[in-house]
Amino acid sequence: MNTDWIIATESKHTSGLYGKQNFVIVRGQGALLWDSEGNEYIDCSAGHGVANLGHAHPKVAAALAEQATRLITLFETFPNDQRALLMEKLTALTPGLERVFFCNSGTEANEAAIKFSRVSTGRTGIVAAMRGFHGRTLGALSATWNKKYREAFEPLVPDYQHVPFNNVEALDAALGENTAAVLLEAIQGEGGVYPADPAFLQAARQLCTERGAMLVIDEVQSGFGRTGKMFAYQHFGVVPDMVCVAKSLAGGVPIGAVLLGEEVKNLAPGLHGSTFGGNPLSMAAGVAALSAMQEEDLPRQAAEKGEYLMEKLHGISSPLVREVRGMGLMVGMELKQKVAPYLKALQERRIIALNAGLTTIRLLPPLVITYEQMDEVVSALQTVLNG
Ligand SMILES: *Cc1c(COP(=O)(O)O)cnc(C)c1O
Repeated sequence: MNTDWIIATESKHTSGLYGKQNFVIVRGQGALLWDSEGNEYIDCSAGHGVANLGHAHPKVAAALAEQATRLITLFETFPNDQRALLMEKLTALTPGLERVFFCNSGTEANEAAIKFSRVSTGRTGIVAAMRGFHGRTLGALSATWNKKYREAFEPLVPDYQHVPFNNVEALDAALGENTAAVLLEAIQGEGGVYPADPAFLQAARQLCTERGAMLVIDEVQSGFGRTGKMFAYQHFGVVPDMVCVAKSLAGGVPIGAVLLGEEVKNLAPGLHGSTFGGNPLSMAAGVAALSAMQEEDLPRQAAEKGEYLMEKLHGISSPLVREVRGMGLMVGMELKQKVAPYLKALQERRIIALNAGLTTIRLLPPLVITYEQMDEVVSALQTVLNG
C-alpha cells in the first residue's frame, strides 16, 4: 500500500479527535517500530504504556493464534479455561485482592470501580486528586482533573471532589460521611509523572478504613512492572480495596480488570457486566503476557534500567531542564518551556516520546528496551535540548 494513500485516507475519514503524524507505522519488535519507508524508531511511548513486554511479543502472538482457532468469544456466565488461568495468575500478584472483574479498557475498569464503591458503601461521593487522569467515559472523566478533557462535556457526574495530590490535610478534610471512594494513581502519569509521597498513600489507606470508604488505586499506566514492582502501590506498603488495571495486561490486546478486596460487596448477578469482558482471546493473551513478564522479570528490568536511565538524564546539562523525576521506567523530564518542539525534534531523530502536560517530556519505553537504545535516547535528548 502506498504511504501517501494511507495518510490521505486516514485524514479524509478521521473523526478529528487525533492529531495525526505524517508517517505510517507498519511493524514493531521489542522497543523498535518501523514505518512504511523502512525507517526505524525507538519507541519511548509504548502505546502510552501498553507495550511493556515490547511489540509483537512472540509468546503473546502464539497464544493469540492458537486461541483464535479454538474459541474467541464467550460470555462470562460460561466458565472457560483461559479465564480461570488468568484469574489465578492475576490475583496471585495482588495479595488481599482475590476476586476480579474483567472489562476492555482502563476507563471501563475505573467506571466499574466507581460503581462498585457506590454499591459496597451505599454512598455516592468520590474523592480524586488534582492532576489525576482516570479515563474518558463520564464516570471516570468526572474523576479526571484536567479541564481540557472535562469542560466540553459538563455537566459531569455529581459528588466528585479533587484534592491537591500529596496533601494529607486536604484529603482528611474531603473525606466525609458520603465518601464512597478515594480514587488515586500511585504515580500520576498524564498529569506530569508525579510519584505519591508514601505518607500520602498511607494516610489515604488509614482514612478510608476509619471512615468506611474504598481506597481505589488506578494502576492502568503504572501497572505490570513499569515502576520497578509489579504494581506501583506495592512500593508504599498499602493494600487498596480495589486496583484498576488495563493497558499492558494482555501484551497489547484490549483488556481491563478490577481486582477486588474483601470490603467490596453486594456484586449480585446482572448488576454490572460487559459483553467482551473475560473473552477467551484476551484472556489467553493475558495468560501469555503475565507468564512472559514473570519469566523475563520485567519489574527487575524496569528497576535496573530505570535507575540507569534516570542517572543519565540527570547528567544532561541543559539550562532548559527544570526537574527529572519518576519511578522505574516511568520517567518525566520537566522543562522550563513547552515540550512540543522538542518532541518533534526527537522524532526527526527517530525517537518517539510523549508529553505529560505542556512542559514535561514523558518516557514510557517498553521495559525490554536495551541499554544501547537508552543511550541513543539520552544522546538524542542531549542534542535536542542543546540545539
Ligand atoms: C490510560 C489511562 C486510563 C484510561 O485507559 P483507556 O484504556 O484509554 O480507557 C485510565 N487511567 C490511567 C492512569 C491511564 O493512564
